[in-house]
Amino acid sequence: MQRWRRERNIAIALMVPALIASIFVGHLSEMLLFVVSYLYASQTVNVNRLERWLSQGGQGEKPDFKGIWSDIYYHFYKIRKSQKRRKKKLGKMLDSFRKSTGALPDAVVVLGSYGEIEWSNKVAHDFLGLKKSDNGQRIPNLVRHPLFIQYLKEQDYRHKICIPSPVNENMFLQIGIVPYGSGLRLLMAQDITHQKNIERMRTDFVANVSHELRTPLTVLRGYLETLQEMDGAPGVYSRSFQNMAAQTERMQALIDDLLLLARLESKPKKSESVLVAALLSEVCQESDLLENDERRVELHLASSANLLGDASELRSAFSNLLVNALKYSPATSPVKVSWRDAADGGAYLEVEDFGPGIPAVDIPRITERFYRVDVKRNQKIVGTGLGLAIVKHVLVRHDAKLDIDSQLGRGSRFRCVFPKQRIC
Ligand code: ADP
Repeated sequence: MQRWRRERNIAIALMVPALIASIFVGHLSEMLLFVVSYLYASQTVNVNRLERWLSQGGQGEKPDFKGIWSDIYYHFYKIRKSQKRRKKKLGKMLDSFRKSTGALPDAVVVLGSYGEIEWSNKVAHDFLGLKKSDNGQRIPNLVRHPLFIQYLKEQDYRHKICIPSPVNENMFLQIGIVPYGSGLRLLMAQDITHQKNIERMRTDFVANVSHELRTPLTVLRGYLETLQEMDGAPGVYSRSFQNMAAQTERMQALIDDLLLLARLESKPKKSESVLVAALLSEVCQESDLLENDERRVELHLASSANLLGDASELRSAFSNLLVNALKYSPATSPVKVSWRDAADGGAYLEVEDFGPGIPAVDIPRITERFYRVDVKRNQKIVGTGLGLAIVKHVLVRHDAKLDIDSQLGRGSRFRCVFPKQRIC
């Protein structure tokens, strides 16, 4: 306000003498024109100086000026200084971010909205074979693994993927992506070779032990059968033989399930066309034959969809669900099996029984290996605790999921939901 007053006073100081002079010598308009031209010219010079200073990026000391122009320069100067300070602070933050991500044992890559690399740390160069000069390039052009390309395309980052490193096929990387900001994505890759090796050792160990146990068990079963068939075996032994036969049978089932699980973990996936209606009819018929009494299985084929996958794996999954439904429900109650189209273009298999149901706390755990609900209640029902683990594994290998719905005293419903891309 003060500065404006100064400008106004200068204008008045020039106008008043011009007016007085015009009273004596006339030429009022010329006098006023002269004063206005002078004021206009001096402001133009100042505007010009400001424009030149700004066009040079406001570098250097602010030009020395008087009045309102001094204020204008000063404000610009202050804004530029605070911008400089902010830039310095941001630079420092960026530097410490780079240093901390550089110290991370995991690979970190910042991706733009088109998948172009904006920045990557040193570990990303070692794990993914990226170079500094790759900045700006789209990552699917550099990391070509089909699973990774599909992961980027689908943009479903709730889960992580595991792929071999593009620079070392013996190294396994777990890759996860976190979207942030406007269209930016943070890719993180962790070396999980060690875990993978331990996992492989465990699978191999279980598979080898199960395989090695098979032969002695077959021999034992053979001798037991012979002993049971022998005439004249003392009656006191016959119960023991029966028990031994039941236990060897249980052990056989355990070994078979363990071998199947090991195979599911290691063998490559198959993708053949599986005729679901025929497969289900067979599975239901076989299960029904095992039941002594009336037919209990009600099969409802509401969909003509077939699946892309492995027929023998699907057969074991479906049959495990059906055997469970029959096993864990009264011998007089029906078991409903249906194959239906899903609203999203996929299809689902539903196995429903009217048994005692499963307590809600156990539902999240029943697909774990060896997990059995209320062992006391079920102790008469023979099982390995591996059936649902097999079901889950088979479904994961078919990109499908298992939904379990159960109400105590009413029954359980197991649903295998297959996605659209698995339908043929
Ligand atoms: P198991 O060989 O013991 O049947 P599973 O892995 O197939 O092993 O099942 C795990 C547990 O889940 C079972 O022990 C049982 O307690 C429970 N379960 C599975 N299916 C049903 C069902 N249809 N109704 C009630 N309980 C079930």
